[in-house]
Amino acid sequence: MVVQSMTKTKTADVAGTVRQIRRLQRAGCELVRCAVVNRDDVAALRRIKASVSIPVIADIHFDYRLALGAIKAGADKIRINPGNIGDVWRVEEIIRQARLNDVPIRIGVNSGSLPKEVLQKYRHPGVDAIVDSVRVATAIFRENDFDQIVLSAKGVDVRQTIEVYKILNEEFDFPLHIGITEAGLPLSGAVKSAVGLGIILYSGIGDTIRVSLTADPVYEVVAAYAILSALGIRQRGPILISCPMCGRCDVDLERIARNVEKRLQKYDPFMKVAVMGCVVNGPGEAREADFGIACGKGVGAVFAKGKEIRRVKEDKLVEALFEVIDENVDN
Ligand code: SF4
Repeated sequence: MVVQSMTKTKTADVAGTVRQIRRLQRAGCELVRCAVVNRDDVAALRRIKASVSIPVIADIHFDYRLALGAIKAGADKIRINPGNIGDVWRVEEIIRQARLNDVPIRIGVNSGSLPKEVLQKYRHPGVDAIVDSVRVATAIFRENDFDQIVLSAKGVDVRQTIEVYKILNEEFDFPLHIGITEAGLPLSGAVKSAVGLGIILYSGIGDTIRVSLTADPVYEVVAAYAILSALGIRQRGPILISCPMCGRCDVDLERIARNVEKRLQKYDPFMKVAVMGCVVNGPGEAREADFGIACGKGVGAVFAKGKEIRRVKEDKLVEALFEVIDENVDN
């Protein structure tokens, strides 16, 4: 499962876009998509490609000439929505150029931009209309004997998107890019994506994933890994386990957990780190993790590999935890 995100800079701003792609890459992004909306963006693509080491996908709507330009500029893949490219001959021109340059094409159907004929037939952008749009789009590629395609058909509605992907998975052999489009701000968007993508992934569907969030794209990558990690599909870096707190907690556990989470971002190896609020469940849970702390009143215990290592005052707990992690982990 490959983790993808999309830059939010103007693509023509080469320095800003390259900076964002490098941040995304450090967070674990493996494929990045850039919006190509004019000729300046096309020109920028070549320079961006020369400065980054992950594949760059050109995201194109409406103007087939931008797709031709993006392929010539070295895009590793292009994403088009055939529904808004217009006449079939324009899509065929894109196919011809993609074949010449051995560039795959993602057919990205979106519930918000279905072809007019399909909308007239179904009157509503529901599951049938979305799937039919994919059939119409793929038919053009089949007729042109081009099979280097990836499909996506994202809806805003979670249940609808799940249904669509189940049908696509049964009906087509092409790789599927999965996502819930326009999911929202980080918390609500990540929850919505986790529900929808979680069910899709658990059904064994999906080859590339993007979590769409109204936020810094690094959050999209973090959220994608959190979803994959929760399902045991892929793991990247440490996992923080922290208790939800209750009346037994005598420390500012949220502050401690945030502090631990922030410091863990500097670590690459997989490990479970527990931050627990009291001595009731704390030591037990902390022992189950690779490392952990269980807090008490003004004092807490640090655990490593199931054993209590030391007891320290509350204000020294986080420091002591990371000393123990550093003694045991090769970062
Ligand atoms: S570990 Fe302790 S403080 Fe945290 S939720 Fe459980 S009982 Fe409450």
